Amino acid sequence: MNNEATSISSEEKILTGDRATGSLHLGHYVGSLSRRIDLQHQYHQTILIADLQGLTDNGFNPTKVSSNILNLMADYLAVGIDPTKTTICLQSALPALSELTMYYSNLVSVSRLQRNPTVKNEIANKEFGTSIPTGFLTYPISQAADITAFKGTLIPVGDDQLPMIEQTNEIVRKINTIADKKVLVECKPLLSKTPRLPSPDGKNKMSKSMNNCIFLGASEKEITKAVKGMYTDANHLRVDDPGQIEGNIAFTYLDAFHPDADLVQSLKDHYQRGGLGDSKVKAVLNDCLQELLAPIRSQRELFLSDKAELLATLKAGTVSAHEETQQVLLDVKGLFGLNLFEI
Ligand code: ATP
Ligand code: MG
Repeated sequence: MNNEATSISSEEKILTGDRATGSLHLGHYVGSLSRRIDLQHQYHQTILIADLQGLTDNGFNPTKVSSNILNLMADYLAVGIDPTKTTICLQSALPALSELTMYYSNLVSVSRLQRNPTVKNEIANKEFGTSIPTGFLTYPISQAADITAFKGTLIPVGDDQLPMIEQTNEIVRKINTIADKKVLVECKPLLSKTPRLPSPDGKNKMSKSMNNCIFLGASEKEITKAVKGMYTDANHLRVDDPGQIEGNIAFTYLDAFHPDADLVQSLKDHYQRGGLGDSKVKAVLNDCLQELLAPIRSQRELFLSDKAELLATLKAGTVSAHEETQQVLLDVKGLFGLNLFEI
């Protein structure tokens, strides 16, 4: 990962966010967090705790969002996000983000929002029927506000976020056309080698809202249980049978998390030849996940034991983000001729 990061222009500004809808999981770790841990050493990086976006499908259940803000803080710090290098801030405390959303909303049609494939898929999964919350349908606009408010140019995300980045760039181009100059800059996604970690049953992407996660703070028992229940090859009935790798989630996880690619390849060869049982593959995976998560779990508990400190760190990051985002808001208001005075 470091090698790729060094080929990135030193001018890049890194911006990512996570919805405050639950603690972070292995999908976050491998899809985005591990990138952020590397990138913070070389680039200006901001992480936004997207509590307002979390409310877009939890408006009637706000505690789910408010109670998870500090869990996210603890997760970040436990995996090695360093608040002296990365600005960690809170969406709801940054009014510029909501105001920019209002300006951008006038530039995006409802039909364009309805065509966003990720939103479409999420709407179907959440079974909103005809009662789609307006905020949910329009969250790609609020993400455009988040990215542009920080002048984000490089966005380390999972592949579910590609349509959001496309929509952000459409808005950027519209704003620049209205202004007849480059007020905002376009951004690019940065995908990891595992841009979509599936759930252990292989049915969906691992998602906080889908109750299918191995959390970064999972206990030893929870990890073992999830690995034991992991989908492998349904036709691999006897140890001696040749097994299939494709679609075999235990191997997907080994590819994503095991540090020894040669060992994983030899396991794959053996499995495909026949003679390697699922339980042996899962034992290797279990060891590797236990080793990865044990230190994160204990660090996380340590950070959560001082919530006042977590809150103070978040507040400090948010204060510095406030000034940065207000400036972009002023520029955008200006191009609409609506910066008559400040109060
Ligand atoms: P929710 O179910 O509330 O939407 P989530 O688990 O999808 O939660 P988000 O907060 O929406 O998590 O996503 C934060 C970041 O993590 C995004 O960049 C997203 O692409 C990435 N991400 C989330 N889940 C995965 C996954 N399973 N694999 C790879 N990246 C992921
Ligand atoms: Mg999501």
